[in-house]
Amino acid sequence: MNLMVELEGKTVPLAGCQYVLWEACGCPRGVTYASPDRPDPVITEDDAWKEFFARKRERDRVQREGLRMELMTHERYSREVYPLMLKRACPHEETEAVLVDD
Ligand SMILES: [Zn+2]
Repeated sequence: MNLMVELEGKTVPLAGCQYVLWEACGCPRGVTYASPDRPDPVITEDDAWKEFFARKRERDRVQREGLRMELMTHERYSREVYPLMLKRACPHEETEAVLVDD
């Protein structure tokens, strides 16, 4: 199957593109290749969600929590996401820390 997608202003083969799972805060949580040729293909965003979270209940929960899925080229992943994946600590926590007293 030779599926093409339009990303970042270019038409590129879907195979080789990557689905990035973003935390609500903006940290990347995981990544999976779009794989149209596998026996259990990852083509749509829905397929990618299922790849990370097998159960619908889990998917519903994390989507409510604000996780997002984004398809991008490997080039953009390497440039923008991979460096973030190397960071061990979330840089967003500090600003979001709120003391709850109840
Ligand atoms: Zn973060």
